[in-house]
Amino acid sequence: MIALAAREFHLFQAAGRDFLYLVPSAAVFALDDVTSAVLRAVVDEKRTESAVADALAGRFDRQAVQEAIADLLAARAIGYAHEPEAPAPRILPLIPDANGAGASLRTGVIPLTTMVMNVTNQCNLACTYCYEYGEDKIVDTEHGRKPKFMSEQTARESVDFLLRESGSVAHLTFFGGETLLNFPVLQSTVAYGRRRAADLGKSIDFSLTTNATLLRPEIVEFLVDNDVGVTISIDGPREVQDKFRVFHNGTGSYDVVAPKIKELLKRHRSKPIAARVTLTSATQDITRIYRHLTDEIGFGEVGCAPVTTSPGQSYAIGERGFDNMLAQFRALAQEWLESSLAGRHHGFSNVTESLEEIHKGVSKAYPCGAGLGLLGVSTDGDVALCHRFAGSDAHKLGTVRDGVDRGAQIAFLEHNHIADKTDCSRCWARPLCSGGCYHEAHVRYGTTTHPNLHYCEWIRGWTDTCLRVYGELSERNPAFLARFDRDEVRAEAAV
Ligand code: SF4
Ligand code: SF4
Repeated sequence: MIALAAREFHLFQAAGRDFLYLVPSAAVFALDDVTSAVLRAVVDEKRTESAVADALAGRFDRQAVQEAIADLLAARAIGYAHEPEAPAPRILPLIPDANGAGASLRTGVIPLTTMVMNVTNQCNLACTYCYEYGEDKIVDTEHGRKPKFMSEQTARESVDFLLRESGSVAHLTFFGGETLLNFPVLQSTVAYGRRRAADLGKSIDFSLTTNATLLRPEIVEFLVDNDVGVTISIDGPREVQDKFRVFHNGTGSYDVVAPKIKELLKRHRSKPIAARVTLTSATQDITRIYRHLTDEIGFGEVGCAPVTTSPGQSYAIGERGFDNMLAQFRALAQEWLESSLAGRHHGFSNVTESLEEIHKGVSKAYPCGAGLGLLGVSTDGDVALCHRFAGSDAHKLGTVRDGVDRGAQIAFLEHNHIADKTDCSRCWARPLCSGGCYHEAHVRYGTTTHPNLHYCEWIRGWTDTCLRVYGELSERNPAFLARFDRDEVRAEAAV
């Protein structure tokens, strides 16, 4: 008789029962008692089907055990020990070649959905940890060849490029440096983008990221009138914000930004204004940061991310810092769950984003859309992987005038596929992580192809937490998860 063996999954508990996260398919299954017992019996030891039935004879009848084995085989949670597990397929997306034809081995065309446009590489703040200006920078924005501000002409060419490369819906995000230092170009680009999109029968929407120091009433009016989404980089209460987010003369920015943000939140109600917090070894009181930004400033959405840095920097988060971060993220995830069980909104967007991906069964061959559905544009119109690489010749993928260099794009996608990241190919968290941010990898390891192995424990811990939250919700308030289906309908319509 042939023995059964466990395949790739992550087993977790929620709402008093076992759940499976199946790695190849990124599907989540709730297990009943017999299926759970069968699975555990196979995990303990490779056994034949009848040996499993014998081991469970006192608890379940043979028929139920046989059915559970069949279900687990069909879901590929278990398999036959003598059959090797199929390696993850190495499927590359279809990139049209220079003549518009697709390369034969690739499946599915990926249009450009989001273009991040660096309208300036200058900033009026001098945040100590900034990847753009600190020791870890990859583009010399002070002495390099790139213009400090994008011209109106380049901005128009960028919009034309986006609308050429996109499907029926395009997203344009303005970025910097400090984006609002080039407000005139931002303003004219929104008007031009809307006009050109209407001419072409496409839809376009706009968002920006800002440090909020330059928000003034007429800018707020413009953002409201034009329905521009806003993400604000802010780290928390005064003493947290002012540790790193300082002006060039060293003074903190909290007292400048707090009243401006409150005013924006009062006026701009059509879209959630998100806070984006950078966590460091010195700013780790996440619960307090979250409370301040929601209760005292008024943000509806707060997302936190660890600082991107080489390991030697004093603000780099070490192992203990990641443990502390995980404990606090877990506490906020529990609050998020309690709110969601009661049908209420909770603003900790790290949970919302992960749950949406779990619900949609996202399984990534690449960690993010960089170089694929997302591209960054530098002030002179060079196209790169994303906004963080914009202006880096080593990560250039074309120009807005000449279009995407398909050879460079294909080479990038071939070299950065998850199937080639050896450590990741054995990791159960890979459908959602896929090796992590290329920019972080470049800063840490000098190459985008390296997985971010310094934070694997944190990623796996956080993914497990989000799976548990998902399991609880799916048992106790499944209607709440339907909101992610509605988002999915919108996302599909956008392609
Ligand atoms: S980087 Fe680490 S956590 Fe992420 S997929 Fe690779 S091995 Fe897993
Ligand atoms: S490479 Fe990193 S910074 Fe760039 S889009 Fe991906 S996750 Fe974001």
